[in-house]
Amino acid sequence: MISGSHMSYDVVVVGAGFAGASTAYFLGRLGIKALVIDVKGWEGVGSKPCGDAVGKHHFDELGMPYPEKDEVQGLVRGILIYSPSEEHNVFIGGEGFEVHRIKYAQKLLSDAISRGVDFLGGTHFREPIFKDGCVVGAKIWVSGVREISSKVLVDASGNARSVTRLLPSLWPVNEELNLGDANIAYREVRIVKDRIEEPEVLRIYVNNEVAPGGYWWFFPYSLMDGYVNVGLGIRGDLKMVNPKQLLYKYVLSRPEFKDSKVVEAGGALVPTRRPAASLVWNGVAVVGDAAYVVNPVHGGGKGSSMISAKCVSEAILNALEVGNASARDLWRANLCFMMRYGYKQGVLDIFRYFLQRLSNDDLEFSISRKLISGDELNEISLKGRFDVGVVDKVLKLASLLTRPSLLLKLRVVVKYMDLIKDHYLNYPSTPEGLEKWITQLNNLLRTYYETLK
Ligand SMILES: Cc1cc2nc3c(=O)[nH]c(=O)nc-3n(C[C@H](O)[C@H](O)[C@H](O)COP(=O)(O)OP(=O)(O)OC[C@H]3O[C@@H](n4cnc5c(N)ncnc54)[C@H](O)[C@@H]3O)c2cc1C
Repeated sequence: MISGSHMSYDVVVVGAGFAGASTAYFLGRLGIKALVIDVKGWEGVGSKPCGDAVGKHHFDELGMPYPEKDEVQGLVRGILIYSPSEEHNVFIGGEGFEVHRIKYAQKLLSDAISRGVDFLGGTHFREPIFKDGCVVGAKIWVSGVREISSKVLVDASGNARSVTRLLPSLWPVNEELNLGDANIAYREVRIVKDRIEEPEVLRIYVNNEVAPGGYWWFFPYSLMDGYVNVGLGIRGDLKMVNPKQLLYKYVLSRPEFKDSKVVEAGGALVPTRRPAASLVWNGVAVVGDAAYVVNPVHGGGKGSSMISAKCVSEAILNALEVGNASARDLWRANLCFMMRYGYKQGVLDIFRYFLQRLSNDDLEFSISRKLISGDELNEISLKGRFDVGVVDKVLKLASLLTRPSLLLKLRVVVKYMDLIKDHYLNYPSTPEGLEKWITQLNNLLRTYYETLK
């Protein structure tokens, strides 16, 4: 409760982006007394630059409300993925939304506030407070430094990782991001003059010259005539290239953008990798981008932010009930997240590494020959696995069509996707097993990278 200079809450959430607002939503619904702080005010809740596309299945699976009225800017019925020449494409069907990220995040936070969660904008998290090897609170800055006690401190600060990066380096929630495992993405929302064909279909373009190690996208807002979210992401460790420059050079110079009007512009880092090895430790939890829960292949992190929020909130309820918030008491957050989504990220991280190293020629070949169909890609993305039938078909096609180097690489990729999936499905049931599990994971990744060289 806010009282004088010292405050005390069961849970303090740092960050009111999509992940923090989702955590607040679940904590509120579980009746947990929480405070959410953000350096931005109410108007900045959920305001990070984004492509805004979120699959409908996420809301269904988590029992979360669909965005409605002015919280939704477009309806989606699928995605077209274009080859580098743009002459070929693969269609992935699937319903979704172009979400108004600020209005929807505010809706989640409002729901939490109506259930007793507090929000403090203009408030900066400074550092965690430790006692006996456990986080027990936070120092914050709001017209001066103040201390808050917490049973669990949740890092929802996105790429800033404001809490986790100040935790002891031996705590597995504090895992540094390698820029090769990230994308840097820039996007603009524009109003174009010409009618947009099939505005409920999102378009993704893969081309290593235009977007090295990433892709560029054209996501219309179907409910807002002429509005489109257009952006470009590249691998984070590439020097001397800048996604904004590439977007202007190759994309916004096209005739369809002539005389278009810029409504919004901005970019950010996207962690495109497997999740952090643990989402919890003693008195602390992490959700959203700070926990690296983004889909490694398409870079979507909003749906998985919501999943991490639900898993963490339910684990916090359990910890509060047993009266202790040690890593062991919060561990069910990891079991929930890894079985629901983390294992898919592990598998897709393997696939992402392979895709990023394909030449334009190989990309053109794979898409034009329909090596993998849209349904199969959907299957990989939703379930994190290649069906045996798909594997056989892909390998056969690749060999028949005499691409020996591609065939060889595909065999390696499929093998390691399976190995990583098994490894994640054997995620340790208690914190004691984690160190060994991480060592085995790192060994697997090392041999994969070496084999694929
Ligand atoms: C260009 C781009 C396009 C994308 N497109 C998509 C897409 O189409 N679909 C999709 O699902 N995902 C997309 N993503 C990813 C998605 O935007 C993120 O995964 C998601 O928004 C992460 O939310 P978050 O709450 O974890 O982080 P953030 O939204 O970054 O929120 C973190 C919050 O923490 C606050 N904060 C940080 N430090 C402190 C501190 N010390 N004290 C107080 N507050 C602090 C910040 O002010 C911020 O409000 C895209 C990302 C980018 C960059």
